[in-house]
Amino acid sequence: EAVEIRAQLAHQANYDTLTGLPNRRAIMAALDREIDRANRQNTPLAVGMCDIDHFKKINDTHGHPAGDEVLREVARRIASTLRTYDTCGRYGGEEFLMLINSAEEETPNVFERMRHAVAATPVTVGDVVCSVTLSCGVAVLGAEIQNSATVLNAADAALYQAKDGGRNQIVFAPGSLPS
Ligand code: GH3
Ligand code: MG
Ligand code: MG
Repeated sequence: EAVEIRAQLAHQANYDTLTGLPNRRAIMAALDREIDRANRQNTPLAVGMCDIDHFKKINDTHGHPAGDEVLREVARRIASTLRTYDTCGRYGGEEFLMLINSAEEETPNVFERMRHAVAATPVTVGDVVCSVTLSCGVAVLGAEIQNSATVLNAADAALYQAKDGGRNQIVFAPGSLPS
């Protein structure tokens, strides 16, 4: 019984109860691990900061419980587009952090597939049908970006541009797109 309880506590400490994704603490730990690995083994790492567009309006229009269901479905759709070696966590309320180990030239496709998986089909919650989109800022580890603080700052700045540029889009930080 003690073993069972310990396993439950460990799970609660690392997974978000609403979406089932790794929580902020777990995804931040994963980010540090992935950066370490990428730097040591010289493997690619792209970090995407994704934020649901106008989510407050979904809550205001359909209620908070419907908003919760939309969050779960968006999380499911994002996770469904990832390979087993990629990771996605719930970074904050309606924000998700993606850690992508794809080859550089593959990375834009991974994010585009994720954006499309969310936007292509409206989300249905009971009688409510609503279109959901998200915006994403991506930063790739490299000469200019080498630690978690700089990668998160760069991804965040790119996310801001994606919002500013009309939402429902992916923006790569300067120097992060394959040439
Ligand atoms: P933007 O396109 O600029 O991102 O607009 P937005 O409305 O998505 O952004 P804003 O930050 O104004 O609102 C985010 C909303 O997300 C507000 C908050 O109530 C809601 N939210 C955060 N966490 C949860 C949650 O767990 N469940 C529900 N239903 N809503 C949540
Ligand atoms: Mg937000
Ligand atoms: Mg938002």
